[in-house]
Amino acid sequence: MRVLVIGNGGREHAIAYKLSQSPLVNKLYVARGNAGIWQIAQKVDINPTDVSSLLEFSKKEGIDFVVVGPEAPLVAGIVDTFEKEGVPVFGPNKHASMLEGSKALAKEFMSKYNIPTAQYEVFDDPDKAKRFIKDVGAPIVIKADGLASGKGAVVCKTLEDAIKTVDQFMIQGKLGEAGKRIVVEEFLEGEEASYIVMLNGDRYVPLPTSQDHKRLLDGDKGPNTGGMGAYSPNPFVDPHTEKRIEEEIIKRVIQGLKQEGVYYRGFLYAGLMLTAEGPKVLEFNVRLGDPEAQPILLRLRGDFLKILLDFYEGKEISLEVTEECAICVVVASSGYPETPSKGKPISGLEDLKDVIVFHAGTDVKDGKLVTNGGRILNVCALGKNLREAKEKVYREIQKIHFEGMYYRKDIGDKALRFLGI
Ligand code: ATP
Repeated sequence: MRVLVIGNGGREHAIAYKLSQSPLVNKLYVARGNAGIWQIAQKVDINPTDVSSLLEFSKKEGIDFVVVGPEAPLVAGIVDTFEKEGVPVFGPNKHASMLEGSKALAKEFMSKYNIPTAQYEVFDDPDKAKRFIKDVGAPIVIKADGLASGKGAVVCKTLEDAIKTVDQFMIQGKLGEAGKRIVVEEFLEGEEASYIVMLNGDRYVPLPTSQDHKRLLDGDKGPNTGGMGAYSPNPFVDPHTEKRIEEEIIKRVIQGLKQEGVYYRGFLYAGLMLTAEGPKVLEFNVRLGDPEAQPILLRLRGDFLKILLDFYEGKEISLEVTEECAICVVVASSGYPETPSKGKPISGLEDLKDVIVFHAGTDVKDGKLVTNGGRILNVCALGKNLREAKEKVYREIQKIHFEGMYYRKDIGDKALRFLGI
């Protein structure tokens, strides 16, 4: 089969890596990818959101199956456009993708179908938002309604922070149109969990659990980012909690989608806070998480393409998952997430042992590997437990070098403390 992966990040490298191992794949393409993915898939020089050019390419090359990594093409309706032309795509259609495309709509959906989430209000008017925030007080969470690549949610410790964020989003237009409408949300306390299922109508299959680390700095300090590291499984999701997640969240989503007449096929990601009252939804994503996909896919056994194809066609599937733990530490550029530096030569990758590196913002200039974005590399390992996996990654990561390289030193530590290992 001729398979096309869409996207440029570490998640897409992990997807392409798994697909490249499938005996069913004759030719693997990536649009546009990064220097790591180009080693295993043919580069297609088309932007992930340029849906019409991607369709033209897919028809010309006879692409049999498309796997979409990021949210933007899904929210832009790539699935609807491709499937009208008979090109199958693993991902939800435009309508279903609004669960991620609009935080206000997602909150409305959750209220309507009794899916546990933080209390909230939606605002189009900054003055009204500020009055509400002053009434409720801090800590409080401000979220841009539209897509903002992980930069649209701000946890505000003080009222001043909250007011400043409203100004930045709604008046100064820091996130463009995405931030003109905001959701103001109750601050929830607890451990976070990423719970991802493969969903096809009313059939779902959970993927291994994981936990992301959203904040830039150690100890969960600093601004939110796209994610600085992740591991799987997530020990905070015990069997009782998992049952609650399935009953109170996943099954209610499925029921709600059905009642709304929305057909959903693809990955569905529930970002959760495990509060004292139980799991509550922070957000839905309509794709795999990045960096969660990296450790999750490393733990998945079997032919990934066959799994996706069978599930797409509505067949029963069962996932085989290794007992081993997986971890992923993101290596970023200085200046990330605001203004990352670019074009810095990267060295040391050839010396790494026992780890696998999924590239994110990398490029090749004059035959040399260079940085090309905020998050640059994902250094991942499997281990018999989380400690072993973590030690491998942190031992090897020191061999990598580029100017301004930054990574968190504490990925997995909360889980290790919890597990007492
Ligand atoms: P993503 O990149 O995953 O799409 P996002 O920008 O859409 O992220 P959210 O996932 O809603 O935003 O929030 C980002 C992070 O902010 C969460 O992982 C969590 O750490 C924190 N957060 C969000 N909502 C709340 C809340 N109500 N209470 C406490 N923390 C929150």
